[in-house]
Parts: sequence; C-alpha cells; structure tokens
Amino acid sequence: MAEILVLVDHADGAVKKVTLELLTLARTVGEPSAVFVGSGADSAIATLAEYGAAKVYVADAPELDEYLVAPKAAVLAKVVADVAPAAVLIPSTAEGKEVAGRLAVKLDSGVITDAVALAADLSATQSIFGGGVIVTSKVDTGTPVITVRPNSSPAEPAAAAGERVDVSVDLSDSDKAAKVTGSEDVVRDARPDLAEAAVVVSGGRGVGSAESFAIIEALADSLGGAVGASRAATDAGWYPHQFQVGQTGKTVSPQLYIANGISGAIQHRAGMQTSKTIVVVNKDPEAPIFELADFGVVGDLFEVVPQLTEEINKRKS
Ligand SMILES: Cc1cc2nc3c(=O)[nH]c(=O)nc-3n(C[C@H](O)[C@H](O)[C@H](O)COP(=O)(O)OP(=O)(O)OC[C@H]3O[C@@H](n4cnc5c(N)ncnc54)[C@H](O)[C@@H]3O)c2cc1C
Repeated sequence: MAEILVLVDHADGAVKKVTLELLTLARTVGEPSAVFVGSGADSAIATLAEYGAAKVYVADAPELDEYLVAPKAAVLAKVVADVAPAAVLIPSTAEGKEVAGRLAVKLDSGVITDAVALAADLSATQSIFGGGVIVTSKVDTGTPVITVRPNSSPAEPAAAAGERVDVSVDLSDSDKAAKVTGSEDVVRDARPDLAEAAVVVSGGRGVGSAESFAIIEALADSLGGAVGASRAATDAGWYPHQFQVGQTGKTVSPQLYIANGISGAIQHRAGMQTSKTIVVVNKDPEAPIFELADFGVVGDLFEVVPQLTEEINKRKS
C-alpha cells in the first residue's frame, strides 16, 4: 500500500489530536507513517502507533528546536526523497500551512491547503472564497502536499507497528534564517484549544460587554467546549483576540458550533461554516447566520443562553 506521511503536531512530545485525525484519514488512502520533528519522540511514538503509524520517522537533533518552521520542511523533504510517499498530510494550522508551502517549493509539487475531506484518489475537498464555495481539487504535479483542517475527520485508534526510523538532516543557512530566541508557555484555562475543540460556543456584538461573556463561558463549560468570539467582540475588547473566529482569526470545524449574538458576516462564516452542527441564538430573524443554522432560536441571548446552560447542567447531574 502507498505510504502516506503525516507531520506530527506536538508540544514536547504531547501529540495534538489533529495528528491522530490525520493518521486516521491517511489510513483511508494508504499506509500512514508519522514524521516527528523536535524533542519528545519517545513519549509520542506509542500514541502514534496506536493510531496507525506503521513507521515513525524521527528527527530530534537539538538544533531543530532552535529554528522556526523551516527545519520541518527540510526534514519532510528528506523523508519524501528517501521513501517516495503517495502524499504528505499536514495539520492546517498557521504553522502547518507555512511548512506545506515551503515543502511544496522544495519538492516542486502542488499544494492544497485547508482540505476538509480526502478521497481515495487523493482529491481534496476545500471550502474556499471565505467558505462560499466548495471545490474538489487534485494535485497533478509531484508529491501531493495537503493540509487538513482540525476536526475534519474523527480520530480512531488502529494499532500499527510504530517502527522508529531516525532521520538526520543538514540544515541550510536559509533553514536557520529565523531563530527562536525565547519561548513562553501560553497561559491556558481548563478549556480545550479553540482550533481543536469538539464544541465551540461563540459570542458576538450581541453579548454587549466583557462581563456578559460570562454567560457564553458558562454555556461552553456546561458542554466541555471552547469559547470563541466575533471580531466585533474582540475589537471591542470584550474577549481576547486569540479567540476570534473568522477570516482574520481562527478557523474552527467543531462537531457543534453555537453562535450567540453574531450576525453571520462573510468574514465570520469563513472561520466556522464547516462546523458539523450549527446552532444560532439571535434576536433578529433576518440575521444571515440563520442561513447556516441547523437549529436556531430567535430570541434574546440573555434569556436563552442561561436557560440552555441550566438545562444542560441539570441533565448532566
Ligand atoms: C478584512 C476583514 C476581516 C474580518 N475578519 C473577521 C473575522 O475574522 N471574524 C469576524 O467575526 N469578523 C471579521 N470581520 C468583521 C465582520 O465583517 C463583521 O463586522 C463582524 O463579524 C460582526 O460581528 P458580529 O456578528 O458580532 O456583530 P454584528 O454584525 O453587529 O451582529 C450582532 C448580532 O447580534 C444580534 N443581537 C444583538 N443583541 C442580541 C441579543 N440580546 N440576543 C440575541 N442576539 C442579539 C443582532 O441581531 C446581530 O445579528 C472582518 C472584516 C473585514 C473587513
């Protein structure tokens, strides 16, 4: 079966869920192998094998952690040259898309970003033009390099060998052009990462103030979800910019997206319209976001959201 490389997204060896989704997806089109760059491979290999990685290519030279994305593209290019895989799958994060672009240039291959599905013939489904159009594309030059959005497919275990194969690369001067001079862990609350969360509860201008975001957080917490916000809410300073969903914010594709007091501007839709189930709470029945809704409530979010939270918490207890 054709080998499919999956670039591992991890933090010091803690493998991110999107990697497990990509390994699962890779099994539908070939035999997945993981490519691990950086430190912490020992703790990651068991998880990668559990989710179907037949091989784990490991490049863990200390200097790889010292530079930004370029070394990842260099390692992938080396493995591609060695094993001639049928495709390379990369998480569609900001970093992943940059790695993909650099890799495609190195390989002289076509690249597809932000895929949400992949067919057996490696044609990819993308949501483009701010999410207004769905297209199917296929790379016809070189080794397809495809970035896949988190939450596009499930992560299902299927044990495989996870054989470690060490890889060494000589980084070029251009790979070392941007050096990491310091790093700091993001202070995180207990909520899941916005880009990876299965449930996202967002608030917009209709929430009205920073204090009122407490009711959005309470609903998110009742569902074990992440909190998102429209740009109107982040620009107003009601919620931090890192939680903005949309064209100039994060792209999310959760199982459930609940939009509260958000009108549904094209720039917001671009970041959330591939969500599996969309629930809308808005007092304006003409709000464009209702066009996307699987379920909608025309009503005041200050009445609807607390009741919804209370009901969910009641059913949980
Ligand atoms: C280049 C560019 C990039 C952009 N990028 C982004 C982006 O990444 N993300 C993003 O979100 N936007 C982005 N925007 C902004 C976007 O165009 C909209 O202005 C923004 O999404 C509007 O946010 P909103 O829906 O919260 O506010 P509004 O459009 O003002 O909508 C507020 C909604 O709340 C409803 N409402 C009010 N009170 C209540 C209540 N009590 N109960 C229930 N409903 C209520 C109203 O009926 C209304 O539908 C971008 C714009 C540009 C030009």
